[in-house]
Amino acid sequence: MTIWLGRDAAQVIIEQANIFFPLETGGVLLGWRDGEDRVVVDIVGAGPKALHGRHTFIPDHSWQVEQIDEAFRNTAGDLDYLGDWHSHPAGVAAMSSEDRSTLRRISRRVRHPIMVIAAGRNANWTFGGWMQLRPRLLRRSVAECQPIQYFAVPSEWPRAPLSAE
Ligand SMILES: [Zn+2]
Repeated sequence: MTIWLGRDAAQVIIEQANIFFPLETGGVLLGWRDGEDRVVVDIVGAGPKALHGRHTFIPDHSWQVEQIDEAFRNTAGDLDYLGDWHSHPAGVAAMSSEDRSTLRRISRRVRHPIMVIAAGRNANWTFGGWMQLRPRLLRRSVAECQPIQYFAVPSEWPRAPLSAE
């Protein structure tokens, strides 16, 4: 599978990551499922009451839910919650053990969720993407690294305004 990441969404992630640098920030990924592929067209940020630490952040959950609801309304329910994103300021685009347990927890309510991590600083951010999968022969699900492809979201696609705060 491939994670298709809209260039605008990737840009907003980088802007947000730089605003909070050297602290971590993050949010949710919205878009579509296309077979096993995921197409990310919008992101929601951490929210005004989020708490940001060096290696963790706690999102403003009620604000995020409002933003997601609004995105659903603006697109007539076309967008889907696909997973979460967050930054690793001055770090590497790799899953920490907390990241793995977060993605495993999300997978209890969302089928095959994805996690996107942006690592770096200033103009140098590297993206990594993972999907929680349950391989045959394995009893428990695992996060598998997935390729990310960037694309320009066609202007005629239904979308909500990017809400990053
Ligand atoms: Zn992390």
